[in-house]
Amino acid sequence: MEAEFLAPETVEEALEALRGDGALALGGGTQVGILIRHGLLAAERLVWLGRVEGLRGIASLDDGLEIGAGVTLAEIADSALVRDRHPMLAAAAARVGNPRVRAVATLGGHLAHADPRQDLPPVLLALDAVATARGPRGERQIPLTDLFLGPFDTCLAEGELLTRVRIPVAPPGRRSRYTRFTPGSEADYPTVGVAARLELEDGAVRRLVLGLGGVAGQPLRLEPSELVGQPSGPELFDAAAEAAVRASDPTSDQRGSAGYKRAMVRLWARRTLAALAAADGADRG
Ligand SMILES: Cc1cc2nc3c(=O)[nH]c(=O)nc-3n(C[C@H](O)[C@H](O)[C@H](O)COP(=O)(O)OP(=O)(O)OC[C@H]3O[C@@H](n4cnc5c(N)ncnc54)[C@H](O)[C@@H]3O)c2cc1C
Repeated sequence: MEAEFLAPETVEEALEALRGDGALALGGGTQVGILIRHGLLAAERLVWLGRVEGLRGIASLDDGLEIGAGVTLAEIADSALVRDRHPMLAAAAARVGNPRVRAVATLGGHLAHADPRQDLPPVLLALDAVATARGPRGERQIPLTDLFLGPFDTCLAEGELLTRVRIPVAPPGRRSRYTRFTPGSEADYPTVGVAARLELEDGAVRRLVLGLGGVAGQPLRLEPSELVGQPSGPELFDAAAEAAVRASDPTSDQRGSAGYKRAMVRLWARRTLAALAAADGADRG
């Protein structure tokens, strides 16, 4: 049986259309299409969000940058605002998959899909992003640290939509960088993704945050408080890399054994932090 196809124009209409069994939200459809084609997902009603104006736009607010859940990954990569305020987010979005995927895949679909290998979750975790969700029970704020529950699993309730993601203003002097490592083709999912955020004061750590992808059932955020005050340099990078390995709980798959992934997270966490410490200038915030 062909699924019914609805294209609401407001968030309210979308929520109404998602009520009841068998309804499924459709962002860019890059996952939904594959899952339905392979018989892994069935829907009686597809609710395409592409016409919902309330999910669009990237706005600079007093307390941060707000990105609509319907904004595509290509729009994030190309946005002057995102490139200026959070360059590692723009850079990560520019590396997802291939141009055809980025042109239609949406931020909301990317996060709700919750594949632990994806590129943007570690970046948004390191940036302390908070999502807004709306559902039958109203609106709520979900820090990204609470959104991901496990592989392909989030805390979103039935019929609940992600509507926006807010990234707080960067503190002065913050530097950030995302590295994705894949031994396969450039367009492949990363084996390991490392988002690093470093704030230094008089050459010592004021704040160090890492976001990690591909190394556990869900993307991870860690902020090793024992490293605050430690001078920037090889010992710091080694200690942070060890903290990243300790936090990781990878599984063996076609991208490598668990041991290999641990070795890769150690290597890339260290290299990313070293590059960050050596780089000129900070994010503009
Ligand atoms: C060839 C290919 C290569 C890829 N390579 C990479 C890669 O290198 N790195 C990477 O990170 N990712 C990669 N991806 C995954 C890609 O990032 C996701 O497919 C994409 O971001 C999903 O977004 P979408 O809008 O198309 O989601 P959809 O397929 O539309 O939806 C995905 C899920 O999210 C739900 N959903 C959609 N919008 C919302 C919303 N607003 N609120 C709540 N739920 C919602 C849907 O119901 C569905 O369950 C690749 C995908 C493909 C097809």
